[in-house]
Amino acid sequence: MVEFPEEVVKKAFGAADGRCECLMVEHGHKYNSMCMRVLDWTKRGQSFIAADGEKGWEAHWIKSPEEGGKPTQENCEILCWDCYVKKNKK
Ligand SMILES: [Zn+2]
Ligand SMILES: [Zn+2]
Repeated sequence: MVEFPEEVVKKAFGAADGRCECLMVEHGHKYNSMCMRVLDWTKRGQSFIAADGEKGWEAHWIKSPEEGGKPTQENCEILCWDCYVKKNKK
């Protein structure tokens, strides 16, 4: 499986201002259609679902590698874990 280079994810995370970038109206986000959940850089990935139920985040491929998506910042979307799971269910 292709992964985003750490450096790309870091830049994307910075560009997103450490917040979930999800814009899916179907998710019913509070701020217009934006999620904007504040994320913690150290809590990336599935393994960071804490005992108290706090979830992390993951870097999402806007265009998947199968569709020819490249591991670049432009193709990297920072999503909170909830939005990431919802988007990947499609
Ligand atoms: Zn979100
Ligand atoms: Zn969402």
